[in-house]
Amino acid sequence: MADYDPGHDYAATGLFDAVLERAHAHARAHLRSRNDQPIGAPATLAALRKALFRPLNAAPLAPGVVIDELVRDVAGGLHSMNTGRFYGWVNGGTLPASLAADWLTAVWDQNAAMATVSPAAAVVEEVVGGWLRELFHLPRGSSFALVTGTQMAHLTCLAAARHRQLAHLGWDVEARGLNGGPPVRVLTSSERHGSLDRAVRMLGIGRDNIIALPCDAEGRLAPEVLADALARHRGEAVIVSLQAGDLNIGAFDDFAALVPVAHAAGAWVHVDGAFGLWAAASPTHRAKTAAMETADSWSTDGHKWLNTPYDSGIAMVADAQAHRAAMSYRASYMIESDAREPMDYGPDWSRRARGFALYAALRELGRDGVAELIDRCCAMARDLVGGIGALPGAEVVWLPTLNQGLLRFPDPAPGASEADHDAHTDRVIARVNAGGEAFFGGTTWRGRRCMRVSVCGWQTGPADVARAIEAVRRQLQGATDGVRADA
Ligand SMILES: *Cc1c(COP(=O)(O)O)cnc(C)c1O
Repeated sequence: MADYDPGHDYAATGLFDAVLERAHAHARAHLRSRNDQPIGAPATLAALRKALFRPLNAAPLAPGVVIDELVRDVAGGLHSMNTGRFYGWVNGGTLPASLAADWLTAVWDQNAAMATVSPAAAVVEEVVGGWLRELFHLPRGSSFALVTGTQMAHLTCLAAARHRQLAHLGWDVEARGLNGGPPVRVLTSSERHGSLDRAVRMLGIGRDNIIALPCDAEGRLAPEVLADALARHRGEAVIVSLQAGDLNIGAFDDFAALVPVAHAAGAWVHVDGAFGLWAAASPTHRAKTAAMETADSWSTDGHKWLNTPYDSGIAMVADAQAHRAAMSYRASYMIESDAREPMDYGPDWSRRARGFALYAALRELGRDGVAELIDRCCAMARDLVGGIGALPGAEVVWLPTLNQGLLRFPDPAPGASEADHDAHTDRVIARVNAGGEAFFGGTTWRGRRCMRVSVCGWQTGPADVARAIEAVRRQLQGATDGVRADA
């Protein structure tokens, strides 16, 4: 702030120069120090509220002051996701070119709703859609939409599914809505992500019409179980939602076995591949996605495993006509052209030009780089979970078959119960995260608390893995010493 001069004549040097230079300096400082900062945000919500809550100023502030104070006041409240040692949830980092393209997206300030409003944004989206179709080996005629995340990709795909399944029963859902229409059911697995439930709610299908089927030990639906459920809902509008990478263990449904069963019963098959769809882009892991392209729609994210900045979800639909029927709209001020109109495919009207960051990420990595990123994350996840699991006081619950693994830390106290082991596991996770060397999430899987390990950052390498294992070892040692001291 010291070098900010409120009397400076911004018009003379360009209105934006000073504040963008400040932002650039802050960005560089953040990126340079990120590996020396605690990986998990150390600040409490109370501390952040204290720093940030203030009466809204009546008078305008100089842009540089706003930015300098924002940076100062959020300090300590940011997780260092863009490092090699953040393993919480399924959050990737940001690739350099993709981050830079995202900055330029804001600078260019395009409204990507329509091709006439931003021709470059529209064409870049066409290109990105084609590349993604190829990387995922999806049918050539599939349509796509760039949305905020997998949440909205589900909404988009299931809207297309709802359209087609009800049209088959002679019901025009876009005109009549769901009131009085045939029932719509969503058959899915007990391991689904909650974003599917929210999409079902938002579409008016209703949570009670989700039929959650049990999974086998590998987290997959059994074809007989699905066939039975389909038989119970014959004659209704049925959508089957399968998993390409479930949130806990990265399980893939057996598409070759399940899709034909669903299609034989007239169901639409949707695939939640928020991160797992990317396995299709790796020759090493592609077998897991065998026959995935026979489904009807797919949801995935750029902001998880591809390492674009946030606001990067992708919906893909094999039946482009159903997709457009569910989403498109024509208003009098639109200029008809031969362009692919982005707003014909997604739920947004005005929106950010999301294609630029995806375009940059894909070109920065190239086809081989995407495959290498997937393979490296999977290898690092295995090393990390295996390495922690080999420590005294740790137990592997799920050794990664993709990039997701689970660990448990049994309470060493004699006669400890399952509830004690749950509590001890949460305690160890909290201690490791507070240590600042690495960050992990927790989950309840098959009734037991676990540390959830997800590796999807492009920067994670062997040195990070070694450092993270060492951090867990130290905390486990501390926990055991603590027990001995208590005893
Ligand atoms: C993260 C995730 C989602 C939700 O994706 P968003 O991009 O957060 O909307 C859905 N399904 C799975 C399996 C996920 O991991």
